[in-house]
Amino acid sequence: MVRVRFAPSPTGPLHIGGVRTALYNYLFARKNKGKLILRIEDTDQKRYVKGAEDYIIESLNWLGIQFDEGPHTGGDYGPYRQSERKPDYRQYADDLIEKGHAYYAFDTSEELNEMRERLEASKMMPKYDAISRSTMKNSLSLPEDEVKRRLASGDDYVIRIKLPRNEEVRFHDEIRGWVVVNTTQMDDKVLLKSDGMPTYHLANIVDDFKMEITHVIRGEEWLPSAPLHVMLYRYLGWEDKMPKFAHLPLLLKPDGNGKLSKRDGDRLGFPVFPLEWKDPSTEVVSTGYREEGYLPEAVLNMLALLGWHTADNQELFSKDKLIEAFDISRVSKSGAKFDLKKAQWFNHHYLMQLANEQIASLIQDEVKIAYPSFDLSRLSAAVELTKEKAIFP
Ligand code: GLU
Repeated sequence: MVRVRFAPSPTGPLHIGGVRTALYNYLFARKNKGKLILRIEDTDQKRYVKGAEDYIIESLNWLGIQFDEGPHTGGDYGPYRQSERKPDYRQYADDLIEKGHAYYAFDTSEELNEMRERLEASKMMPKYDAISRSTMKNSLSLPEDEVKRRLASGDDYVIRIKLPRNEEVRFHDEIRGWVVVNTTQMDDKVLLKSDGMPTYHLANIVDDFKMEITHVIRGEEWLPSAPLHVMLYRYLGWEDKMPKFAHLPLLLKPDGNGKLSKRDGDRLGFPVFPLEWKDPSTEVVSTGYREEGYLPEAVLNMLALLGWHTADNQELFSKDKLIEAFDISRVSKSGAKFDLKKAQWFNHHYLMQLANEQIASLIQDEVKIAYPSFDLSRLSAAVELTKEKAIFP
């Protein structure tokens, strides 16, 4: 049984790159008659943004991306918010220490900075790893009684994974093929923070295991973390249950210069968010596809083709046709450029499929406000005269 998850962090509105990740997970789940799970990765309390979780759910609902399990629908593998699973993670971090695959580290932020500066000065990659850890304050370098004393007196500590010095880590990516990384390129990443909260890495692996996730389909920005995740599966003794990985290509700005990001907001002349978003702290409003007059069918079709296409380069797909045609091995490795003209073209196409009455009912509330004296009984006729020329911002 295929089980995939979309695992956003509620640190702000979902941007369209995130929506595409959710969409590909959805298409993969439906195609394989599997389950799609929504998991809220909210372990970073400092970056938590109120309203973000509701926004994510509302956006995906608008697009018709339905979940089988999640914080809003329930399910047998809950809780579906990481902040509600806290005790689980601690247990696995302790388990790793016991097995000798993790250790306590007591370094202060000044000591960590000092180490980074020292390594940079000698032209080395500033990493906490098999070499540098021997110079730091941790349970591998300090005498045992000092470690015990520090733990007993409540000194601040984090738990780090203990990676071997020079070992190849390899895994197969459904899109990229074999990926090989040597541990000399990797860090002893923090697994449990000093506030007792897990980092993304530990929580993500524990949850994917406990939720019996079979395929991890996520953005390319997580590819560098995947070797660490493979090591965690190995050290936790779960390697035979390790999900398959598929890292999706980046969604790029229209000129191909860099990743389309949340910060692009309305700056590039088109929305980067599915729905309008008002930042709760700055009160700045960013527009959304819905508010700009885009139809969900058009947004879905446009996003599906940003990074994937069929052998015959077909362009128009209803949701059902997408499910039928979607093939993860045909997702491209290189970044996909956002194309505003194409987005408008899709929207125009789907708008022309609607009956005049349907368009009229979609716009009547706005017409009422903008032209209070307009006779609404003539709206369908007005739509007929103007729809062909409708322009989208
Ligand atoms: N919480 C991560 C994010 O915000 C999830 C990455 C993953 O899918 O493993 O993108």
